[in-house]
Amino acid sequence: MKWHTLAVHAGTEPDPLTGAVMVPVYFTSTYAQEAPGIHKGYEYSRTHNPTRTALEMALAQLEGAKYGLAFASGLAATEAVLHLLAPGQHVIVSRDLYGGTYRLMRKVFETWGLQFDFVDTTDPAAVEAAFRPHTRLLWVETPSNPLLFVSPIAALAELAHTHGAKLAVDNTFATPYLQNPIEMGADIVVHSATKYLGGHSDVILGAIATNDEEIYQRLRFIQNAVGAVPGPMDCFLVLRGIKTLALRMQKHSENAQKIAEFLATHPKVSRVYYPGLPTHPQYLLAKQQMRLPGGMVSFEVKIASTEELRAFWSALQIFTLAESLGGVESLINHPAVMTHASIPPEERLALGITDGLLRLSVGIEDADDLIADLKGALQRL
Ligand SMILES: *Cc1c(COP(=O)(O)O)cnc(C)c1O
Repeated sequence: MKWHTLAVHAGTEPDPLTGAVMVPVYFTSTYAQEAPGIHKGYEYSRTHNPTRTALEMALAQLEGAKYGLAFASGLAATEAVLHLLAPGQHVIVSRDLYGGTYRLMRKVFETWGLQFDFVDTTDPAAVEAAFRPHTRLLWVETPSNPLLFVSPIAALAELAHTHGAKLAVDNTFATPYLQNPIEMGADIVVHSATKYLGGHSDVILGAIATNDEEIYQRLRFIQNAVGAVPGPMDCFLVLRGIKTLALRMQKHSENAQKIAEFLATHPKVSRVYYPGLPTHPQYLLAKQQMRLPGGMVSFEVKIASTEELRAFWSALQIFTLAESLGGVESLINHPAVMTHASIPPEERLALGITDGLLRLSVGIEDADDLIADLKGALQRL
């Protein structure tokens, strides 16, 4: 099946009972049993719910995986993956990372006994040097948040496997339309479906896909035992979002490319981070590993202090100042103050997250309007 067909049909069959074309939203906590233990595969909705099952099948199909699992949020999915490990084990993690993932690792799992090293995963030699005898997981975000660095998935999978570790890829920014890590050797793919998969800024949900039966069984156990599951309405919203994923990602990418090119020529902009620009350090890798460069663009403006940005924010008409990303509407975020505030200032600066760094989630509006909006606001700097 080709991609646009897959996006529309993944996980959804007409309902056998009524013929309903969309999967019904099964608002039920429990299911009648004919006799104790005799049932239709559903006992209790923390364990299974038919709307969630449809979404989990869709997620697996999109990632070219055997198994899919849905969670209450992207971080709940991440938490489940980290629960595969035991205290004393070691994890290598991309240095440029979603702030909440960093917080979960440092503030929850580190006190619980896991060890983390944050390294530049765009560089396989740096990753190789970070392995220890008790390293069990390599966690990679690519493209990364907020600097959109691209890490070589196939090379990292090989490295992880040589050292007896598993590779997990946070595929939130790329989505399965742009990149399929499992096909490149990754063991686990994690998503914040809150972003592009849902696509409409109206739901919080997380997902995991894997081909590994043992990992799947353990994750399925954790999903039920911990209980961070999404409700049926949330599953429905993501299922609906997925149907237009391919179309949306094309438009997000097309708009982002135009905006990145515009920003690259603007005198008030000192640097643009976008995998679709030839100046991007992993431009060729992105070309090879991703179908399109995606809808996220980060750039640095020339300012002396964040105060100077006040007029810039108030001049924006279409871009909404907000956290999150991946919806149809364009958003702008100030990582140092918003999404990445939980990373200590010295570490943030060392990573390249300066006070002048801005991150765009480019929506599916008309590119000309978006560029005019940014142009007007940049004039206020
Ligand atoms: C948002 C996000 C998460 C966390 O997902 P939630 O659904 O907000 O819990 C994880 N990784 C990345 C890259 C994200 O953008």
